[in-house]
Amino acid sequence: MEDSYRHILLAVDFFEQDEMVASRAKDLADKYRARLSIIHVVDSLPMMETGYGVDLPYNLDLTTELMAGAKVRLAKLADKLAIDKESRWLEIGSPKLEIIKIAEQNNVDLIVVGSHGRHGLALLLGSTANSVLHHSSCDVLAVRLQNN
Ligand code: AMP
Repeated sequence: MEDSYRHILLAVDFFEQDEMVASRAKDLADKYRARLSIIHVVDSLPMMETGYGVDLPYNLDLTTELMAGAKVRLAKLADKLAIDKESRWLEIGSPKLEIIKIAEQNNVDLIVVGSHGRHGLALLLGSTANSVLHHSSCDVLAVRLQNN
């Protein structure tokens, strides 16, 4: 079929409900017989806002630790979804920019995100989901997640 998806990119933040996003991406990949890739981005803000009025400087040790933890979680989820090693992306930087960059570099034609994650519980659409939707050149599916 000419217009079916060939490469689907699933973006996960390892927040609650992302298994729901993952299973929707897996279903679509099976249905379209598309390649399924997965991405997680470790956010690397130069300063971390604590919310107490004190900003912590960017900490390299912490980032290394976060990367190690994220790698384990990504491998676990990717194994469960039978995603091969070449299709797993663990990036560091701004989630929205990295998701779009990896999608463009790998000819992704559908990006699957949750409607919100960590940053958007009270919003209709979270900020990462919103940016990806507006700036991506391919289709984007925002899987509707319930507010808790
Ligand atoms: P948000 O817009 O941050 O509320 O998150 C909405 C969705 O964007 C999540 O359900 C994920 O699909 C994706 N997302 C958010 N942060 C990340 C991240 N750091 N790495 C990969 N995907 C992310």
